[in-house]
Amino acid sequence: MQVEDYLKAGRIAGEVREIARNTDWVGRTAYDLCEYVESEIRKRGADCAFPVNVSINEIAAHYTAEPGDDLEIKGDDLVKIDLGAHVNGYIADTAVSVCYDPEYDPLVGAAEKALARALSMMKAGVKARDIGRTIESSIRDMGFKPIANLSGHSLDQYTIHAGKTIPNIWSIGGFSLSDQSAYACEPFVTTRDGGGFVRNGSTKNIFALMSRKRTKNEAADRMLDRIWERFNTLPFALRWLTSEWEEGEARNLLELLVKKKAVQAYPVLVEAEGQRVAQAEHTFIPTDEGVTLVTAAP
Ligand code: MN
Ligand code: MN
Repeated sequence: MQVEDYLKAGRIAGEVREIARNTDWVGRTAYDLCEYVESEIRKRGADCAFPVNVSINEIAAHYTAEPGDDLEIKGDDLVKIDLGAHVNGYIADTAVSVCYDPEYDPLVGAAEKALARALSMMKAGVKARDIGRTIESSIRDMGFKPIANLSGHSLDQYTIHAGKTIPNIWSIGGFSLSDQSAYACEPFVTTRDGGGFVRNGSTKNIFALMSRKRTKNEAADRMLDRIWERFNTLPFALRWLTSEWEEGEARNLLELLVKKKAVQAYPVLVEAEGQRVAQAEHTFIPTDEGVTLVTAAP
């Protein structure tokens, strides 16, 4: 584990998250938001670990802007901005929910509070199931529901979901936090009327390399090579390919790569009952006494 690289990625991600939190996005497009936040990450000397997710209202996660996307952020939207910076593949993953209608402040507050309470109980050796119980009871005490099938995760070099899960609900089994790994903790909260879980939506605009096996299509193979060189196995967006390919061609080649199972496409995740969802997320490294908060605010 390269602690220095995590800390640099985390300092950058934390700074950019606070800019995103304090910017008024109303009337701006999802495209603007993604491009701006990604440019702020790169400007500070890190790479983007995945396309900025801008997931609005009942979309819990995994929406990023399409090229020229005119989806506009409205005054009553609840917007999850989830961003990742990496340095040499060591990833800092963090998210904030912003809303401009005070009606949703309690939902956002519940996600933030559940995250803070989880972090305050963490140290090396703490069981993931106990963290899940703390998150769930914190959310339910405030009159809301956790999203049961979204969870935090261990991180590894060039790997966002590295195999270990930090649940947002009480669950059996699980593992204990190690001081030799970084983790992301990310409570998702919905209203009492929500189903408390997400389903796959039909939109897919985040992708990742699965296999470098040749496709028998020369142009598609060239795209596959460029994806590997530029993003490794980390997620990417069509927006990131249009500097090298004309948009229509990029879309067709990407579709072919998905069909050949060289690239996987991630669907957006939608709250089961269509209720709004809030999220808060930090990356941390456990210590003997507590945690090193990798994505702390500056
Ligand atoms: Mn995230
Ligand atoms: Mn995450």
